[in-house]
Formats: sequence, structure tokens, C-alpha cells
Amino acid sequence: MNVYENAQAQMNKAFETGKHFDWDKNKLPVILEPQRIIEIRIPVKMDDGTVKVFTWYRSQHNDARWPFKGWIRFHQDVDKHEVMALSIWMSIKCTVVWIPLWGGKWGVIVNPKELSESELEQLSRWYVRQLYKYIGPGQDVPAPDVNTNPKIMAWMMDEYSMLVWKYSPGSFTGKPMQAWGSAGRWEATAQGWVYVLQTILKLKGQDIEWKKIIIQGAGNAGLTMASLMIDLWATIVWISDSKWAIYNADGIDIEEIKKIKNNRESVINYKDADSVWDKEILEKDCDILIPAALENQITENNAKNIKAKLILELANGPTTPEADEILYGKWTSIIPDILANAGGVMVSYFEQVQNDMNFYWEADEVQEKLHKKITEAAANVYETASEHESDMRTWAYIIAMKKIFEAMWARHTY
Ligand code: NAD
Repeated sequence: MNVYENAQAQMNKAFETGKHFDWDKNKLPVILEPQRIIEIRIPVKMDDGTVKVFTWYRSQHNDARWPFKGWIRFHQDVDKHEVMALSIWMSIKCTVVWIPLWGGKWGVIVNPKELSESELEQLSRWYVRQLYKYIGPGQDVPAPDVNTNPKIMAWMMDEYSMLVWKYSPGSFTGKPMQAWGSAGRWEATAQGWVYVLQTILKLKGQDIEWKKIIIQGAGNAGLTMASLMIDLWATIVWISDSKWAIYNADGIDIEEIKKIKNNRESVINYKDADSVWDKEILEKDCDILIPAALENQITENNAKNIKAKLILELANGPTTPEADEILYGKWTSIIPDILANAGGVMVSYFEQVQNDMNFYWEADEVQEKLHKKITEAAANVYETASEHESDMRTWAYIIAMKKIFEAMWARHTY
């Protein structure tokens, strides 16, 4: 199954599991597919004078609870199904943590490492020129994801503001502070992942201290999480990138890995590895497994060999529905992506709120608001799933779908 089919299978399973709520079955088909998919081509004049055409996809899932919110991903492997799946997951994510936004996703087929800065800027500004009627505060507010960053968000916000003749900082989030971003945005986003993990471990009567951790994906999310885990006295025993994995029983020095990755080298260049490996590390021995790379990594082929008793999904969509069943059968807890990494969209929402008010909070106020909302959501999902002797993903979906159906009913959207 592709990731879009995975997202639909997860929703179907939740609908079936939650059928005692007496749900109106006519509502399910309305949210099983995105409401609007936009596909456009953007020409960019390259530095050497040639013109290259890039494909952009935008999926807007459903407008029961406007406005849309969704990340912009620049990657050579982006495809339409991935963008559609990510927009569905964003709807569920926003509703699980109860923020008034709805799922969208942008994906661009491009390897940004092959573009100069001015080519990248043209690509970003051109897309706003073509689509500004579909975006903006109150309509659709994009934010950065894989290979996009605050600088790109500032270019896009600037282009949008010029097109609508109105300074509009709330048109994009994840902006730099100089362009009315939120204080402590990245720190708070990452801290959100930790709050979720801490809340659920505490409810299980456990702590992060001395836990052995595997991180798949030495990128932005994986390395930031690794540092935060070390600060809480956990040990990163394995870490991987797309080519290699390294192991050290006493813990890997993540600051060294960051330097290596900043030089665009592989983790294999780390000097203190006890051993190196050129295959997947998901099946290695550990307490907590953190997939932080790509979709569809934990599948029916490797799930039965996974030794971790807890999986924290930092990546979006790393586990297939078949693997979910196998892992649940082995009593492995999965903290699903739609909860685990929801801190990011929450902090983006806070940025949007500050832009709308034109009044800005200190970093610790952002953290405090995030902590309250995300720990409540994590406890709610864990406790509801435990009460029903079920898994957290299914109950996160049920909690979200119940609220979505209520919003559709209240607005009479069909
Ligand atoms: P990134 O591109 O910075 O990092 C991804 C890393 O994964 C790269 O180092 C790459 O080499 C590695 N990788 C690719 N294939 C791999 C494989 N098979 N095995 C091991 N490593 C592999 O991307 P990122 O921003 O860290 O995002 C990673 C995931 O986390 C995505 O699903 C993203 O949506 C999600 N996420 C990102 C953020 C964010 O703000 N960056 C926040 C929450 C969730």
C-alpha cells in the first residue's frame, strides 16, 4: 500500500473500532479523500540561462474546520499520494491536540541541494505568485518541513504581502524572528516531542533516564531529538542516515554527529563507533525506537523482529497498518506521529495567533502554552486507548474523527 492508502486504512479502522458512537456512515467518505488537490508547474530560470520546470502539489484535505495548515516539503521523491496522505494526517493531528486548523500539505519535486540560493528563491516566489488566491491568513497558512526553512518562509511571506498590498506576517509560519516569527519556535517544537514522550512514560510508571535509544535518520528532527534525550540522561546507542548506521554501547556523541552532518558527510565518519552497519537498524536491541527519516519504514517484513517495547514516531507515516497489527500483538506501544510530532503544528499555530494579534510572547510563554496543551492531549490519547485496551493510533484517530464529525454536523457542511 502507498502512504495515502495507509492513511485511509487507519481512518477506516478507527471508524470501525469507534462504531459504538453511532456515527453517521455518510460522513466517512467525505473525509477519506482530500477535498482539493492542486497541481502546478513552476518555471525557473536557472543561473546558466536554461529554464527548468518544477511540479508542485497542494492537498487541502477538508474545510470543516478552516483554515488549512500544512508543511511545504522540497524533495526529489515527493509524489501526489504522499502529499495527500500528509494532508489527512495533518487534519487528524490538529484535531487530536485541539487547535482550530485543518489539514493541508505542499510538496515540490526538487532536490534543493542542486539549486543555487537565487534559483531556490525564484522557485519559492513563483509559487506564491501562482497560488496566492488560495493561501493567506484565514485560508491556508503553510509552514516549513523537510528541506524548507525560515528563510524560505520569509521570502514567501514577503511575496504574498506584495501581491495583496498588505503586510501579512500571518500568511506563513516558521519565519525568522526578524520577519515576525515566534520566539523559541524550533526549541519549543522539539520540546513538544519530549513532552509527549515524558507524559506517556510517566503514565506507564517509567522515565527517560538510562533508556537505550535508536534513532533512524540523522537529520533535523532526529539530531535535535537525540540531543534532548541525552540532556535527560538517555543513551543513543544507534543512529543512522540513508547510507550507514553506527553503534556505541556507551552512547554516541551527538555534537560530533552534527558536525559531520553539517559537512555533508555520512555518520560512518564518526571516530568512536564500536561497530558500523550498512543496513536498517530498526531491529536492533533498545528500549525506545525513534524513526525520524521517511514513511513506510516499519512494515510487515521487519515488525516481528523489532525489539523495542516503545516506538516514538517522529517521522510522519513510518509504520504501515500491517506492521501496526504485528506490533500491537507483541505488546509494543507506538506513540503515533499524529500525536508524537504535533508540537510543531501547535507552535506554528501560536505563531499565527501572535501575527494576527500583532502582539508577541516571550519564549517561555510559548513553551508554557505548548506544555499545557500537548501533555493534556498525550494523556488523553494514552488513557483512552488503555481504557479500551487498544492502541494509541486508533484512539487518536477516534478522538479526532469524533470532533471532526461534530464540526461537520454543526456547520451542516453536506
Ligand atoms: P531531514 O531531511 O533533515 O532528515 C532526514 C534524515 O533521514 C537524513 O539525514 C537522511 O539521510 C535520513 N534517511 C533517509 N533515508 C534513511 C534511511 N532509510 N535510514 C536512515 N536514515 C535515512 O528531514 P527532517 O526534517 O529531519 O524530517 C524527517 C521526518 O521527520 C519527516 O517525516 C518529517 O516530516 C518529520 N518531522 C520533521 C520536523 C521538522 O520540523 N523538521 C518536525 C516533525 C516531524
